[in-house]
Amino acid sequence: MKLGIIGGGPSGFYVASRILSRTSRPLRIDIYDRLWCPHGLVRYGVAPDHPEVKNCVHKFDQAASDSRLRFFGNVNIGNTGGFGHNLQLPVQSLFKNYTHLLFATGCTKPRLHPSLPPQKDVVLPALDVVHWYTAHPSNVSPPPLDKVKHVSIIGLGNVSLDVARILLMSPEELAPYDVPESVLDVLRRSTIEHVSIIGRRGPLEAAFTTKELREMMNLSEARMVPLDPSVLQVEEGTKLTRQQSRTLDLLKKGSKNTDSSSKKTWSLEFYRNPLEIAPSHNSHAHGRTLSLGHTEVDKTTGKAVPTGLTTQLPTDLVITSLGFHGESFTLPSSSSSSTPTADVDLYSPTLGHLRTLSPTNRLVSPTPSGHILKHMYASGWAAMGAKGVLAATMMDAYNVADEGILKDVVMADQEVESGKLEEELLLNPDESSVDLNSLPSEIEKGLVEGAVTTYEDWRKVDEEERRRAKEGKERERMLSWEEVSRYLRR
Ligand code: NAP
Repeated sequence: MKLGIIGGGPSGFYVASRILSRTSRPLRIDIYDRLWCPHGLVRYGVAPDHPEVKNCVHKFDQAASDSRLRFFGNVNIGNTGGFGHNLQLPVQSLFKNYTHLLFATGCTKPRLHPSLPPQKDVVLPALDVVHWYTAHPSNVSPPPLDKVKHVSIIGLGNVSLDVARILLMSPEELAPYDVPESVLDVLRRSTIEHVSIIGRRGPLEAAFTTKELREMMNLSEARMVPLDPSVLQVEEGTKLTRQQSRTLDLLKKGSKNTDSSSKKTWSLEFYRNPLEIAPSHNSHAHGRTLSLGHTEVDKTTGKAVPTGLTTQLPTDLVITSLGFHGESFTLPSSSSSSTPTADVDLYSPTLGHLRTLSPTNRLVSPTPSGHILKHMYASGWAAMGAKGVLAATMMDAYNVADEGILKDVVMADQEVESGKLEEELLLNPDESSVDLNSLPSEIEKGLVEGAVTTYEDWRKVDEEERRRAKEGKERERMLSWEEVSRYLRR
């Protein structure tokens, strides 16, 4: 087997590490990423004050020490996305060089609210804020924190609470973590006084987990405005899950910090859905007015429905945090077939992720043919959508490795599941001719020119970032590809 993995985030590395630990036979796993470094969301998504979540990188480092695994960074594959400095690798080059392909491409696009399209310095997707505080290569501008007093965050997920916490924590508390000095400087200049976290459903339906809610309650310098007790009342006879009971308990107890003189406050606004944002008429207070439609939860469907009432919320900055979706990925029509076939987009806009067959996550072409694509798989958010914590991603990845890829290799050419194999989209049709060591010529050239990075390069940058950090600080990140490539050339 020569497996090409597109995406060097946690799910790709979990699949690779599982395969390497389950077999000692000769094989090759090459992981490609358009980021110059490995670990995807672990470096560019996990909140800096959650360093324990990043411990999975030890497992990934161990996998990368196996000579059967190679990493190639700064390589964009396919028809979408990527950064200007990426080396572009056509999908056809992968087809020629690999016998198996895994898509571990994640969900990289923010879901947007129909009433709140992004608007510079007024409406920002939470992803931009996360990319700013993690110094992601997309190089977004910092949010205008020195010009705002009131911030509205839309959505009740963990990303909303991550962003709210980073905005409300004192910069001094954040300083020992992996937060670039330039980000801390912006936070030091912040004039934020209040953060409203707004959701269309109630406390029982909130997507955030209790650990993250407790962290909000424990903020040392910010206090939650107590909720109206009627919001926390539960209809008699309602059976609550453990998570729901804990959420209600935490919301009833409120903030640990009860000091009413706290400079910063935050609040949860349940049963509210944004309708519109407009410039404020009362310009000396806040810059904008956010119209919020009142909602209730339909008992049959569980969905939020409007009640017809509205409220006006004066605010300065809106951050939308509504989850994520994947990207289109087109496989070009087969060149190996005598009958030309159409291009195939693996992505389903309806699902928000690639089309896969559960539980082995084999890729499936779109209906009406709906064929299983031989030796092609997806894992993690690319396969399931943007849900679940890292432990769920790991379980999914292990399943794809055990039940999909390894079974196919050991039981070569088994009849997979009940579907028909898509013969037109075979990867390298002559597997016996594949050389485990060879690389696509574009990658060979990119390595020579310094346009492609390896895991060894990452280890060097990692070491240097730790060395640069002030005493007591985890690391001081390199902030751009230019800085990284300059350092590596030296
Ligand atoms: P999420 O958990 O899916 O939450 C999205 C929120 O947006 C929900 O409250 C949802 O409300 C709301 N929403 C979606 N569409 C909306 C619309 N059109 N109008 C109003 N509200 C809308 O997404 P996330 O916070 O981005 O997190 C993604 C995944 O990463 C989750 O599995 C999360 O647990 C995980 N994560 C974990 C951590 C951690 O472990 N610390 C940190 C960050 C992220 P409805 O429920 O009403 O749809």
